[in-house]
Amino acid sequence: MTQILENVNLKHLNTFGIEAFGKYYAELNSINDLQELIQKKFFVNSDKLIVGGGSNMLFTKNFEGIVLKNNLKGIKVVKEDAEFVEVQSAAGEVWHDFVMWCIDKNYGGLENLSLIPGCVGASPMQNIGAYGVEIKDVFSELEAIEIETGKSRIFNKAQCKFGYRESVFKHELKNKFIITAVTFRLSKNQSSTHLTALLVPN
Ligand SMILES: Cc1cc2nc3c(=O)[nH]c(=O)nc-3n(C[C@H](O)[C@H](O)[C@H](O)COP(=O)(O)OP(=O)(O)OC[C@H]3O[C@@H](n4cnc5c(N)ncnc54)[C@H](O)[C@@H]3O)c2cc1C
Repeated sequence: MTQILENVNLKHLNTFGIEAFGKYYAELNSINDLQELIQKKFFVNSDKLIVGGGSNMLFTKNFEGIVLKNNLKGIKVVKEDAEFVEVQSAAGEVWHDFVMWCIDKNYGGLENLSLIPGCVGASPMQNIGAYGVEIKDVFSELEAIEIETGKSRIFNKAQCKFGYRESVFKHELKNKFIITAVTFRLSKNQSSTHLTALLVPN
């Protein structure tokens, strides 16, 4: 069972370094940690805040609910053929490290998105993008756990309703799901245009 701490300073969890306190705080190191919290009805009648890298949040006051720090780790190839590879990353992986892992393997498609701060699990939230590329261009699917029921669900691209810095998770499904893993369909034949954009920023 993950430890639940009380009155935790969130300063180290947001890149602005703002001092704000979370009434409750827990770290998710496995899906089991999350399922245990759900089964014990820890989220019932409690506000929830899922934190990845904390680079897209601004605390203006203390948070009077439970803060969940997503530490889920792991990157693996789940499918491949001669041209494409599908790579799944757990939500708590640092985004840039994941991009570098793909580049290192010569899997193309995410390189324009290197250096964007944050974790993989937050990337579908706002369909992160840079230099004319958005994750929706190479997104395959994501896995998420419904907070109310603990049920696992797969979302394909259409179900995520991606738009410019938008997704369904910022609107009708806001605070309803915790994204646990994201899968991208990448090219095995690295495109040189992507690399040019990376080297010559505009
Ligand atoms: C200097 C700087 C440069 C940036 N450049 C870009 C850029 O070029 N392009 C771009 O698109 N963005 C950019 N951003 C924005 C930021 O990098 C992205 O929004 C990133 O995806 C945030 O990731 P995070 O892990 O820090 O999210 P957090 O700040 O931790 O969380 C952001 C939101 O997602 C939710 N969330 C986080 N993880 C999960 C999860 N596993 N399941 C469900 N909800 C979750 C949180 O509750 C919160 O609502 C930049 C930010 C900074 C500070």
